[in-house]
Amino acid sequence: MPVHATAAVLDRFAAPFAHVPVTLRDPAPDEVVVRAEAAPFCSTDWMGWRAMRGKVPPVVLGHTLVGTVEIAGTHTGLAPGDRVLVAGTPQCETCFYCRIGRPDQCAQLLEGGDPVIGHLSDGREVRAAGGVGAYSTHALVRADQVHRVPGSLPLEAAALMGCGISTAYGVVENIAEVEAGQSVAVVGLGHLGQLTVQAAAAAGAATVVGIDLHPERLELATAMGATHLVDAGHVDPVETVRQLTEGRGADVVVEAAGPVHAARQAVDMARRAGTVVLTGVDHSRYAEVTLPQLALTVHGKRVVGCQNGQITPRTDIPRWFERLARGRIDTAGIVTRTYRLDELDLAARRSLALDDVTGLVLA
Ligand SMILES: [Zn+2]
Ligand SMILES: [Zn+2]
Repeated sequence: MPVHATAAVLDRFAAPFAHVPVTLRDPAPDEVVVRAEAAPFCSTDWMGWRAMRGKVPPVVLGHTLVGTVEIAGTHTGLAPGDRVLVAGTPQCETCFYCRIGRPDQCAQLLEGGDPVIGHLSDGREVRAAGGVGAYSTHALVRADQVHRVPGSLPLEAAALMGCGISTAYGVVENIAEVEAGQSVAVVGLGHLGQLTVQAAAAAGAATVVGIDLHPERLELATAMGATHLVDAGHVDPVETVRQLTEGRGADVVVEAAGPVHAARQAVDMARRAGTVVLTGVDHSRYAEVTLPQLALTVHGKRVVGCQNGQITPRTDIPRWFERLARGRIDTAGIVTRTYRLDELDLAARRSLALDDVTGLVLA
């Protein structure tokens, strides 16, 4: 029997979602059907909505979700009733990038387009963004994107693992490799910036500077472990970070804001031979960042890009889930509103207007 889902389908870019039935195709032996429970809305999703990621409509957006396995293919090692996270980054183990230890760049995610998961009532094929398609009552996904969720974890916290938690903890532990006593500056305090502040504090950073324009976001960063706050609307953030670091600049700077001038500021506020991790996305796919040449050459600054915290899903997600279960990763204050699936347009608008730290869509 085919599964009949109800999904928020993107039929035209930057237009309202259509809430329509989707008939899912039968799962292959390495696929599962997951009954969706919760999915965050973040910049990954509005990039898809605004045609920045080469999606082909009609498509179901939503890059990660938590839910319950309803149908399990024979080669998946999963069973109906399993509580799972569907992660946005797969780990196929066979592509070039998985074989060199960089599954964050897995070909399954970044080459070849999104898979067809079923069809609409008019017969047109529907694709799932990133092989996930979270904004639906049911998702048809490959098992190499599926991870068991420890039973004790609340839904809201678990749903952030495939989004802000994995990216933030990955930035700090996998990319910047923050060490005890270091100084870390975080530009932009959305959910990714907030969790990056927390991860840096957890790694033992002595100085953690949170930089933003919004008072309530600066306040939340204090709870996350920031030792210093910079209101970039009132003081020069580059100069202030230098003052806080004996004039040198920070050991590690994480850009989690988006606008290209934030990337430039991030490079400027790093010390010589410091590390700058760029995670933000501007509102145009054609945005370009201009950097001072001497900062990269003579001053030896290391500027690194980031897809989902350079994650290795099979090992990183279980270890971060364990920390989440023990309360050593804290998501209090990160989810600011929940939405029904038929309120997805509202969640998107509020995300773009920075009204939510994170909106969580409940299917
Ligand atoms: Zn791969
Ligand atoms: Zn996300």
